[in-house]
Amino acid sequence: MDIRNSDKKPILYVIIPCYNEEQVLPISSKLFLEKINSLVSSGKVGDDSRIMFVNDGSKDATWNLIKEYAKEDEHFTGISLSRNRGHQNAVLAGLMEAMDYCDITISIDCDGQDDINAMDEMIEKYYQGYEVVYEVRSNREKDTFFKRFSAESYYRMLDKIGGVEIVYNHADYRLISKKVLKEFANFHEVNLFLRGLIPLVGFPSTSVFYERHERIAGESHYPLSKMLTLAFDGITSLSIKPIRLIICFGSLVTFMSFIGIIWAVIGFFNGSTVAGWASIICLICFFGGANILALGIIGEYVGKSYIEIKARPRYIISERTYEKKVSVEKE
Ligand code: UDP
Ligand code: MG
Repeated sequence: MDIRNSDKKPILYVIIPCYNEEQVLPISSKLFLEKINSLVSSGKVGDDSRIMFVNDGSKDATWNLIKEYAKEDEHFTGISLSRNRGHQNAVLAGLMEAMDYCDITISIDCDGQDDINAMDEMIEKYYQGYEVVYEVRSNREKDTFFKRFSAESYYRMLDKIGGVEIVYNHADYRLISKKVLKEFANFHEVNLFLRGLIPLVGFPSTSVFYERHERIAGESHYPLSKMLTLAFDGITSLSIKPIRLIICFGSLVTFMSFIGIIWAVIGFFNGSTVAGWASIICLICFFGGANILALGIIGEYVGKSYIEIKARPRYIISERTYEKKVSVEKE
């Protein structure tokens, strides 16, 4: 039965991935706790709601801090991954873990960049019948010009090439109901790009608009190299269009070479075959490059299939601040 039609309050789990965040956690954990307390006291969510930190193999005191918080206040819980698996996997681990305990989840970064006050409106939207609520940045003025420009061009490209309706300027701050999570649990892919995958699950969804803030403390763990990897994974895990483009390009080149052959044969009979050295060199260079590029793109997909086939666990939970529930309720 849908909890929205009963007297019970939905249980909210706020999923927060943390990687080396010892500088940020002492500040942001207080803000999260205040928020959950205010949501509980205003009757929007049940008192069994929790803040669930996911320690993504941090090398600093992050996990110790999380364990301390869990001792101090029952609203704090945490799981720790056996090693650093990256932001997307950490969020996934939290979502899958929380699924058995809650009615709704909200995933949010721990650095204070996402506006915590968006949660009220997200939950409001949930009550209105939406199963997924995306938080969208109303402006990117706080980002550098490069980040803003690259992100916006990327969203546009994903839209064209990715074959899915991607939500512009949405990161990984979103509400997902248990209903959607249960279906999402059947998506077993290792190459994770949550922003592209969640819309694929379907169900009614909407967006809320909030400003993005500066990091409270510490530094970003998303250097350009990680950003590019995520961007590339986004395209190749959602779409095989790049391979199709290679096929189109290959067909065009084959057609052009056919014309070239006719041209060469005519040239041969006209006795002018020595000329054209430069054009041959140009063609060899160009097609040498194009071949390697095409092979690289295909190789990327072969490599991804190889990783998918092995179906290794996407994360391993090594510790929890609580005893894991043994029986999983069935609806
Ligand atoms: N994060 C993580 N694992 C990683 C890198 C980052 O769990 O390998 C977490 C990090 O603690 C933060 C969130 O993911 O809560 C977003 O990371 P960050 O703020 O460094 O990225 P940015 O906001 O600069 O893109
Ligand atoms: Mg951040």
